[in-house]
Amino acid sequence: MGTMKAVVFKGKDQIALEEVPKPIPGVGEALIRITATTICGTDVHIVRGEYPVKPGLILGHEPVGVIDALGPGLEADYTVGQRVIVGAITPCGQCFYCLNGVHSQCGGGLGGWKFGNTINGAWAEYLRVPDARANLAPIPDALRDEDVLLCPDIFSTGLSGAESGNIRVGDSVAVFAQGPIGLCATLGARLKGASLIIGVDTIPKRLEMSRQFGANVTLNANTVDVVDTIKELTDGRGVDVAIEALGRQETFERALRVTRPGGTLSSLGVYSGKLVAPYDALYAGLGDQRIVTTLCPGGKERMRRLMAMIVCRRVNLSPLVTHHFALDDIQQAYDLFSHQADGVLKVALYPNRADVPANVTRKPEFVEAR
Ligand SMILES: [Zn+2]
Ligand SMILES: [Zn+2]
Repeated sequence: MGTMKAVVFKGKDQIALEEVPKPIPGVGEALIRITATTICGTDVHIVRGEYPVKPGLILGHEPVGVIDALGPGLEADYTVGQRVIVGAITPCGQCFYCLNGVHSQCGGGLGGWKFGNTINGAWAEYLRVPDARANLAPIPDALRDEDVLLCPDIFSTGLSGAESGNIRVGDSVAVFAQGPIGLCATLGARLKGASLIIGVDTIPKRLEMSRQFGANVTLNANTVDVVDTIKELTDGRGVDVAIEALGRQETFERALRVTRPGGTLSSLGVYSGKLVAPYDALYAGLGDQRIVTTLCPGGKERMRRLMAMIVCRRVNLSPLVTHHFALDDIQQAYDLFSHQADGVLKVALYPNRADVPANVTRKPEFVEAR
């Protein structure tokens, strides 16, 4: 049996590059050779022990690769050598939740999230993909790996914040936190036709990026009273839709305070501990506000749609990929990302060192083709 390199979760604050058995795909499964992957804020929660995952698991849930082997039953649909991405969420398409339309909750709460959570993930040379027919999404020839690297999770999740918020043409929207997911939520608000889009963060560079991704007003939460300012910008009412993209009590609470009566708080953040909704922000529970939560939509049709937006130049996410590392240098990449050093937004990881682009100096460019 062959072996492969993989990054294994060893317990709180410990990851290690190890040689592990190369997986063999079973019925309905595929094996893909990973050509690029990335680190998510959720991986940092896992490594810090804030979200429980069993030690020994290979982490990572954002795969870009090439089909290396197909299990029985897939020959008619796919070919070895085909370039594919797989969503971070891999629904089975057949269970109670999938057939009720909530694919991300496949099999039960958060159950659609399998890679790097309940089964081995993408920080490896090879990845076994369950329910491959529902999940392998061919990459259009025109796109490079890096163009689609953020589709499996970040773009899908950020955009879903705008979709779940049911943003209508002309809506006012505030997006709390402008990290990679918040920026994609801002982009989503623009795609959904919002008029006023307010990006909130504390890092000036991220606020600058927020304007590129579609915000027409940005607020630095360290220098202004965000709630008062947003009320002023919306005739005292608050926004139609507030999107929370950080997962902290203070951002949740601010988002709620600026959600107008009858408006929607669309929550994407990963919270830990207790989350409190003050009665006044909730209009004593009588404000006709909606609070919706969303886990990243996955499956191959979602991935196809996201890649179609990139092929047709409606969006360009490559400015978000700020750093590039070989998978062998995972510790260095993880340290940089988890400390938000050097203006990092997303790091690309390449199992094959030769794929790491040399001398990358990517200037931020416009994001949405006009
Ligand atoms: Zn993620
Ligand atoms: Zn299912």
